[in-house]
Amino acid sequence: MLIELPKLSPEGESFSGEESAELLGLKAGDAVKAEGPVQYDFFVQLVGHELVVQGRLTVELAATCGRCAEIYSTNLVISDFLRASEIQPGQESVDLTDDIREEVLLKLPPYPVCQPECKGLCPQCGRNLNDGACGCKAPKDDLRWSGLDDLKLK
Ligand SMILES: [Zn+2]
Ligand SMILES: [Zn+2]
Repeated sequence: MLIELPKLSPEGESFSGEESAELLGLKAGDAVKAEGPVQYDFFVQLVGHELVVQGRLTVELAATCGRCAEIYSTNLVISDFLRASEIQPGQESVDLTDDIREEVLLKLPPYPVCQPECKGLCPQCGRNLNDGACGCKAPKDDLRWSGLDDLKLK
């Protein structure tokens, strides 16, 4: 996204639009994928020798839950985007593409979880415990009983 300085109104201007999610450079194996473009809603103003950009970024994500491995959709909303770029004499434009990429990558969930209460998969049979409990014994109980058996032997 390019801001052309000679065209910019001295009072500042609003810019809304979208950038292709390809700019994020996410790979197929990543836990998070973009499902749509990166939408921006910016207010851009020249303040002294700096171009100040503030506003909002939104991108729809498909994330793989780190506990149950389900893919779920979520909206990433960054409402406090703020960048100030120093303008050099004679500079005609400011490219915000790198700033947008950095900001979105920084705010991606590092360990996505489909819901805070996600129960994950049973470590023994692999069943998704969000769909209901399986018949397996909890591993904690197994450890406790084997501990008692050891004591009896001594
Ligand atoms: Zn989950
Ligand atoms: Zn199980």
